Amino acid sequence: MVNVMENAEILVKACKQIYQGGLVKLGEGNISLRIPSKDEMVITPAGNDYENPLPEHMVHMAFDGTNFDKEKDLIPSSEFFLHRHIYQHRSKVNAIIHTHAPFVSALAVSHQDLPVIFEEMAVVFGGPVRCSQYAMAGTEDLPKMALQAMGDLNCCILANHGSLITGKSMDYCVRAAMILEKMAKIYINAQIIGNPITIPKDNYQHFKDIFKKNYSTIS
Ligand SMILES: [Zn+2]
Repeated sequence: MVNVMENAEILVKACKQIYQGGLVKLGEGNISLRIPSKDEMVITPAGNDYENPLPEHMVHMAFDGTNFDKEKDLIPSSEFFLHRHIYQHRSKVNAIIHTHAPFVSALAVSHQDLPVIFEEMAVVFGGPVRCSQYAMAGTEDLPKMALQAMGDLNCCILANHGSLITGKSMDYCVRAAMILEKMAKIYINAQIIGNPITIPKDNYQHFKDIFKKNYSTIS
């Protein structure tokens, strides 16, 4: 049980960070952590209170859907299956953040990829953050489309929905989620001004190597 409580505390810290960063507001979105060596995770509850989250409100559940906190009347996020699918298909992913952050979601509604506009993006994301094909929330198609859009990277934009950030640690995911929203905001503003210029692939290869070495969940 030690891992469960430790994970719940990590989730609480991440909830507060992304709330303060303006990525979540009204209980939408969800965060989870894999329990090492088990087919289990700790995930935020349905309608999570990001402003004042409590470790005892985080839900411990198995990948088969068993809710270990049922007696405490805790209901896991309805999008737990999205997290489960990623954990089952990416063994090196230990943490996941999904948000409906406004600027990333604007790209999601426009079905637009976020190209590499800052070298920092190549370091943190490994390249452009692609937008998935549309899949209805609550269906198994959603994680499949997400994995397809992620390719060999860790993050994607979920069409008409929001962002999906996966990684080896929650610290990485929080940082990546913040940077993704900031870059989406910059890119949208640059489009309003007109003619945003992206960084050519050859110019960011060196930074992508840093991503592969430190953050990739594939290699
Ligand atoms: Zn969602």
